Amino acid sequence: MSLPADLHMHTPLCRHATGEPVDYARHAVELGLTHIGFSDHSPMARDDFDDWRMRADQLDEYVAKVRFAQKEFPQLTIQLALEVDYLPGHENWIRQLAARHPWDYFIGSVHYISESFDIDNPAKLSEWKKRDAYEVWSAYFDRLTLAAESKLFEIIGHCDLPKKFGIRPTQDCTPLYEKFLDAAARTGCAIELNTAGLRKECREIYPSREILKLAFQKNVPITFGSDAHAPGEVGMNLTEAVELARSVGYTETVRFHQRQRESVWL
Ligand SMILES: [Zn+2]
Ligand SMILES: [Zn+2]
Repeated sequence: MSLPADLHMHTPLCRHATGEPVDYARHAVELGLTHIGFSDHSPMARDDFDDWRMRADQLDEYVAKVRFAQKEFPQLTIQLALEVDYLPGHENWIRQLAARHPWDYFIGSVHYISESFDIDNPAKLSEWKKRDAYEVWSAYFDRLTLAAESKLFEIIGHCDLPKKFGIRPTQDCTPLYEKFLDAAARTGCAIELNTAGLRKECREIYPSREILKLAFQKNVPITFGSDAHAPGEVGMNLTEAVELARSVGYTETVRFHQRQRESVWL
């Protein structure tokens, strides 16, 4: 079985990943991957927003690093993308970013459910303790629905991220999932199968089989990503992700070139 495109990986510019894009590309070639995409954490309008992304003045350097990897590994398709944080009110900034380079795609991710609570940050576990789990999940899926409706992104990243630390609500979250997936289906936004969840406390691919089943029923397209933060994580567990996608009925995956979608057999 050939591996699908790995469309989610980072670079050291985000300050919490190691290895240069050429190192990620080399590992991809060794694994037999034919297609990867860099999607590092995009800058915010304010560089002091947090400390886990590139600064705005590093965007050109990021593009140059990816272009260099493309030159070094002409046998591999290497795409230029960003993982962009969606926060309500940041839409104009995201449009400005989009205009700066010929991106292949944007992954829209919700990490923040308020201006200061990034739910996947281990340093913010104290914030989780102040809240009921359902409150976090519900605020998260409200924002994720807005992200899908915004038409700013081709792909929505790790769409059940609140499960990362294994903190799960007892309430039924199906209505939250349905609202988000209906928005994604309406705007033609894809969701990714992100294998980083297998390396976290939840020990599960993002999203869960339950969400993926609903996504398939609603015709929401899918992509695949390792969310590699080190060269050795490129392509990690993609075979399992493909098996999961097939098991709920998917026979196709999508890719993007200059923000245009194409479907390929899985
Ligand atoms: Zn990261
Ligand atoms: Zn992310």
